[in-house]
Amino acid sequence: MSEDIKLIVNGKRIDGRAFDELRNIRIEAGVLKNADGSCYLEMGRNKIMAAVYGPRKVQPRHLADPVKAIVRYRYNMAPFSVEERKRPGPDRRSVEISKVSREALESIIMTELFPRSSIDIFVEVLQADAGSRTACLNAASVALVDAGIPMRGIITSVAVAKVDGHIVLDPVKEEDNFGEADIPFAFFIRNGKIESIALLQMDGKLTKNELIEAVKLAKKGVMEIYKLQREAIMKKYIVEDVE
Ligand code: UDP
Repeated sequence: MSEDIKLIVNGKRIDGRAFDELRNIRIEAGVLKNADGSCYLEMGRNKIMAAVYGPRKVQPRHLADPVKAIVRYRYNMAPFSVEERKRPGPDRRSVEISKVSREALESIIMTELFPRSSIDIFVEVLQADAGSRTACLNAASVALVDAGIPMRGIITSVAVAKVDGHIVLDPVKEEDNFGEADIPFAFFIRNGKIESIALLQMDGKLTKNELIEAVKLAKKGVMEIYKLQREAIMKKYIVEDVE
């Protein structure tokens, strides 16, 4: 808890944001030549590269599903992405993040169209701050669209935290580390509207009303991020002002 470090001062957060304010977000679609789809995304200090391959033949072949495509998702933190040295390669945390993120995306990908295929999503955290799993999901969604994978909608993700008794949007690392709760969300957005929650994790403690407030704030945040995801896709595919 926040005994030593004051996270809210004069109604502002440690980085000067309001409680309901997102970090700066930058999204660029289609940045890698050798992937079918890709996205570079910054969400505050998070820097993420996502690459998508597929639908393609499953390797190894015995994993192929005769009725639908399999979806694989690899979340990886580069050894240079964090302040303290991170041991290269998978660990329990990255395996867990990969699993829940894959499940969120799998629920909206039209896998039934591609039996015996795989859709492989790789996300590399080049620089990490809090909410890296949410930034990765946002980047992966754009990369999937860039790859032309048919989907029922898009996944958009943000975390909410409880910090010095306040519910705040899109926490930074200090708020995540010293706050009272951290709740990453991902929503399924279809036709510009939130349809359902596709991912919800929580550590810490919240009352029922605080959780309701957290969902409201997360919904507000994802609609803003969704707009930026759309803009990044439009920027690549829609050429306006052409004579
Ligand atoms: N972190 C780190 N070393 C690690 C794992 C995480 O320094 O091996 C940091 C990193 O900045 C990460 C943050 O802790 O983004 C929060 O991690 P958490 O597990 O809450 O996931 P995230 O909030 O990034 O989705």
